[in-house]
Amino acid sequence: MAKKLWNIAMVGATGAVGTQMIECLEEREFPVGKIKYLASSRSAGEILEFHGKPIMVEELTHDSFDGIDIALFSAGGERSREFCPSAVKAGAVCIDNSSAWRMDADVPLVVPEVNAHAIADYTKKGIIANPNCSTIQMVVALKPLHDYTQIERIVVSTYQAVSGTGRKAIDELRVQVGELLNGRPANNEVYPYQIAFNCLPQIDSFCENGYTKEEMKMVNETRKIMEADIRVTATTVRVPVFYGHSESINIETEKEITVEKAMELIAAAPGCELVDEVGEGIYPMPIDAAGQDLVQVGRIRKDESIANGLNLWVVADNIRKGAATNAVQIAEILIRDYLK
Ligand code: NAP
Repeated sequence: MAKKLWNIAMVGATGAVGTQMIECLEEREFPVGKIKYLASSRSAGEILEFHGKPIMVEELTHDSFDGIDIALFSAGGERSREFCPSAVKAGAVCIDNSSAWRMDADVPLVVPEVNAHAIADYTKKGIIANPNCSTIQMVVALKPLHDYTQIERIVVSTYQAVSGTGRKAIDELRVQVGELLNGRPANNEVYPYQIAFNCLPQIDSFCENGYTKEEMKMVNETRKIMEADIRVTATTVRVPVFYGHSESINIETEKEITVEKAMELIAAAPGCELVDEVGEGIYPMPIDAAGQDLVQVGRIRKDESIANGLNLWVVADNIRKGAATNAVQIAEILIRDYLK
């Protein structure tokens, strides 16, 4: 019998995440029948490719989803809020990269290595949410430790690449570096301050409690995905790196995990790669993590200031595992176990 093919709509096909999702579908040989590329009127008419064949970008409308089985959204929260219901009405299942639906009790928030079983709840609203990029890589690294002994508290500080803000931010860093090295002033439009040769302790806007929305996403999404009442506190920082988010993570656990045990658990965990040979100067870095799908974990050491604590350094490609790859992995499970 011929393998079933699935019709896909890529909403935000021209963006940083959208173009990577197209590449992931190609690389992973997802069984695609028809594929539709959707974006704003600005890019309608542009030609992109799928497996070498030209596909014209169309403007996203409420009628874009006829005959679509799976709609992959990465065009910002507003578009997801407005257009996911139309896609579901037309019979598609939505996998959404934005933050629009993540904390909706009727929408599963999924990282396949951690809570693939939650995909079953897609039937409630027809939508599956892809978590925030910083949250995804953190929970992939922490899940094997949490399965060994309950994680009670997480303190995380992030060092996030500009690609996490999308195409325009990648250009802003590139242009600023060029201007500054040529002795000219750097203009900023995407970020509130110059990002080249700088660090910004602000990602997204501030909440009333003084945390940024990005920080609160890490707190709330982690608890939802891990299905555990873990205390989490986060500081999220934008750094002048193009691809690859890094995280310094401190955990407090119920029982002790020795460094050796943590290394053994991480080395065996799905989606993780142990990169930790400090004697040889080997640890995860964005330049190595970018362009591949594993979450790299290293610098594992005991937190000597508390009874049961560990420190870790975790790096992943924010556009791949932090967004596109995770969404395509969800789609793979959806067609394997749920859609017929
Ligand atoms: P991006 O590079 O700025 O791309 C945005 C995409 O949305 C483009 O394809 C754009 O199309 C489309 N779009 C914008 N306004 C639209 C409209 N009115 N109607 C239809 N399409 C519209 O952004 P990105 O980084 O790919 O992020 C996309 C989404 O994924 C965001 O919700 C973001 O929060 C989320 N996300 C991003 C990351 C990351 O690491 N970058 C990680 C996780 C989640 P045009 O070409 O027509 O402008």
